[in-house]
Amino acid sequence: MNNKIWLSSPHMGGTEKNYVDEAFETNWVAPLGPNVNGFEADLENYLKENVHVGALSSGTAALHLALILLGVKEGDEVICQSMTFAASANPIAYMGAIPVFVDSEIDTWNLNPKALEEAIVDRIAKGKKPKAVIGVHLYGMPFKTDEIIEICKKYDIPLVEDSAEALGSTYKGRKCGTLGDMAILSFNGNKIITTSGGGAIVCKNKEIKDKAVFLSTQARDNAPHYQHSEIGYNYRMSNICAGIGRGQMEVLDKHVNLRRDMNKWYADYFATIKGVSVLSEPNTDYHSNHWLTAIVMEPDLCGGKTREDLRLALETANIESRPLWKPMHLQPVFREAPYYGEKVAEKLFEKGLCLPSGSNLSEADRTRIKMVLEDFFKYTES
Ligand SMILES: *Cc1c(COP(=O)(O)O)cnc(C)c1O
Repeated sequence: MNNKIWLSSPHMGGTEKNYVDEAFETNWVAPLGPNVNGFEADLENYLKENVHVGALSSGTAALHLALILLGVKEGDEVICQSMTFAASANPIAYMGAIPVFVDSEIDTWNLNPKALEEAIVDRIAKGKKPKAVIGVHLYGMPFKTDEIIEICKKYDIPLVEDSAEALGSTYKGRKCGTLGDMAILSFNGNKIITTSGGGAIVCKNKEIKDKAVFLSTQARDNAPHYQHSEIGYNYRMSNICAGIGRGQMEVLDKHVNLRRDMNKWYADYFATIKGVSVLSEPNTDYHSNHWLTAIVMEPDLCGGKTREDLRLALETANIESRPLWKPMHLQPVFREAPYYGEKVAEKLFEKGLCLPSGSNLSEADRTRIKMVLEDFFKYTES
């Protein structure tokens, strides 16, 4: 059996181990230290816009802290893009708050501005103004940033950017992660860069970052003994993990280019296949890191074949693919949550598939993928 081709697997650049070794040699084996500071500085330099970054144990933890810092309380409502990974919405539940899910639009597959405004207006009419909006740059594709920001400003609701999948993407030349009032990043094993597990909160000023770090290290007051005036969390990033992150930052741009190249390879292939479309940038304002390449298959135009048929064909060849993320308003755990939209996300989920997209895919991997695709779509030749 051939080796498994993964959707997105860790891709080390080579210098990561030097930073980790240094941590061992200097005994900084703790959730603080030079690598944590260095990794934060690397991220700040990369993102620009004078942001302040706090390195944390996960993207989920970062989103939890973001909601705390925005003052979300039990019973509050928080708007969230429905088409996303569960970690975008779970922190709303951690707060005892209520998620309100909003549909996608067809250009970027992210927050639909029209449905977003409808949701805000309706929730206000029902007596509760949403405390925050969580927008997601799914698969690395920036959401309709200008439109979303304008709506959030109009109703004076803070925008949290879930940029877990979009480090290296830009909108109008500005990096994703700097576009909202606050943002989160993830360095999980499957993301564009990894620290084995980790995340970060991106803040507009140092006071907010300091508060995030304070909360992430058990909210210890300034005293010789352990003293606490607030509930804290154990969410800080380990200095070992941050060492991996420092090495990964050296290859981030290279890996973005490799993912974009993989995306172009798929786009070129599918250009000749009727009924298959590849998620692509609506115009030059959008620059995606193409963390994952995702396609939509129309069975009517694909000889009756579905995305599930393609997934199984790939699986038989030991190649991983995955249906698009199942929208949150369709998840059993969120079945009570309000939803606004016109089922765009639902239709995408029915017909969409994510394909192997790693920056470490070899020419041989491409050949194996192409063999399955050519066999699967050979009916198109007749
Ligand atoms: C991965 C991911 C997260 C969570 O990040 P972790 O570091 O795994 O906790 C949040 N949102 C989205 C969209 C993600 O893809």
